[in-house]
Amino acid sequence: MTDNEDGETKETKEKKRKEERMARVQYTDWTVPVAQVGSHAGQQMPLDRTFPAPSGIGDSIVGIKEGADVHVDGQFDSIVDGLIFTGTFTAPVHAVCSRCDTPLNDDWSERVTAFFPYEEQQTEPKGGKGGEQDDDVEIIAGEDEAEDVYPLMDNGSFADLEALIRDTFVDALPLQPLCRPDCKGLCPQCGVDLNEHPDHHHETTDIRFAGLEALKAQLEAAEGDADGDVPAGEN
Ligand SMILES: [Zn+2]
Ligand SMILES: [Zn+2]
Repeated sequence: MTDNEDGETKETKEKKRKEERMARVQYTDWTVPVAQVGSHAGQQMPLDRTFPAPSGIGDSIVGIKEGADVHVDGQFDSIVDGLIFTGTFTAPVHAVCSRCDTPLNDDWSERVTAFFPYEEQQTEPKGGKGGEQDDDVEIIAGEDEAEDVYPLMDNGSFADLEALIRDTFVDALPLQPLCRPDCKGLCPQCGVDLNEHPDHHHETTDIRFAGLEALKAQLEAAEGDADGDVPAGEN
């Protein structure tokens, strides 16, 4: 950056203006213009669009890869104090069965209901707002319904779906994904898939004998060493 203001080109000014606008509202890949639907209560705006998956949905075990296609199919309905979004989010979720390691890659659909109020909540997030909770909270309609709330931006002109998409799938991801509810998992002794081999078992499955088995193996190994590295039973 130079501090020579006279040398400012038209392009730079344009860029500056754009940056000012950007500073006011953070336009992102997930910004949706909603000024029209919000102009009167009782209006409806369908939304059928594909958004890139935001970062931070799950991990390598179970999650949605950043940038993957998230299909959003739903609508905004305007009510007096904001917009209600209802619809379905569909995205490719990658997961691995926590019992048998089977990859579970599938499109997941989640029903979504979210409230986008016109004004940001009056409560200062960082301020010393203590005990005024019961007074003026009626700004938010149906707060007791525990629906997700995402403030609109720029005087109700834009909704941003990034946080809603992320929250929806983060909440939906299972902590321990299963290929099926009754997955039998892998044999803890040899790793055979017990779903494919339901009758698989080992002779010494009783843990009371496990210690003896180990001792026997140890003795056999010691015996083998004594014989000069010839495995026992092969002579
Ligand atoms: Zn499984
Ligand atoms: Zn086994």
